[in-house]
Amino acid sequence: MPKINTVKGKIDPNDLGFTLMHEHLCNTSAGIPKAFPSLLDRSEAIDRAVNFLDEAEKEGVRSFIDVTTMDLGRDMDLIQRVADRTEIHIVVATGIWIDVPRAIDRGVSVDRLAEAFIRDIEVGLDGTSVKPGIIKVATDERGVTPVNETILRAAARASRHTGIPITTHTSAQDKVGIGQIKVFEQEGLDLSTVYIGHSNDTDDLEYLSYIANKGCTIGMDRYPGGRLGGLQWKERTQTVKNLIDLGLVEKVTLSHDYPMTMMLEDKAELERQSSAYNPDGIAFINRQVIPLLKEMGVTDEQIDIMMIDVPRRYFGGA
Ligand SMILES: [Zn+2]
Repeated sequence: MPKINTVKGKIDPNDLGFTLMHEHLCNTSAGIPKAFPSLLDRSEAIDRAVNFLDEAEKEGVRSFIDVTTMDLGRDMDLIQRVADRTEIHIVVATGIWIDVPRAIDRGVSVDRLAEAFIRDIEVGLDGTSVKPGIIKVATDERGVTPVNETILRAAARASRHTGIPITTHTSAQDKVGIGQIKVFEQEGLDLSTVYIGHSNDTDDLEYLSYIANKGCTIGMDRYPGGRLGGLQWKERTQTVKNLIDLGLVEKVTLSHDYPMTMMLEDKAELERQSSAYNPDGIAFINRQVIPLLKEMGVTDEQIDIMMIDVPRRYFGGA
């Protein structure tokens, strides 16, 4: 059975347990943590992350997939310090999100970029020996642009070479998961190693079924969501129920994409808003969503499939 790279070493897919598949300990931008460290109160960010993880652990969360790429300011020092203070398994990512560095936009070939991702996976991230367990890519509302296609193909080749699975950011309203899947298919990727993220930003069952029927995992990973408009959390939960009723429980999993810490000018205001909007942080699914799903008639077994079995199989477990 394949092993999964975590911050503190390799684990067996059976050790994952209840897993949040799309989260972030801290988001900034490429280079910021090193160039402008004063923009972040690092020890405060670490404490906050540990507190959120502790709360989630009490609710049964066992694994946390941090999909923060280099262009989101991935900060390995911060991540490692958080990992040292929690029993929760933390998996980190290589890849590129939507804030594509200009140097990559100007002519990097697919194979050179794939080599860079492979080096991250085989050697370690950002000068550490910590290896990523996942490859993150992102397609926004413009769909698969030329540079995005390069990144998607590079991720697919790195995934085929290393066996590390792919997770995506999408603009679900624009159904851009379809374009991502097309590129991955052209690259000959086994689509069971692909997770199409932010899929609960839409309630379009035809689109969501397409993703599942291709063999990909449907990441219903924006909870509560709706702070900036769009579907509210109960509507998102109804969509989960609808997918279960369509027989797709084996392809659905839930996560928050919760903004624990971001570098913003008015940090206090952001924190006030985000804690007023979601006081449960990354325990929201356990405390709010799962009880509502049960009220809707979803069984404990189906919840375990979504939160334990789907992540385990995605990472290559039986
Ligand atoms: Zn995210």
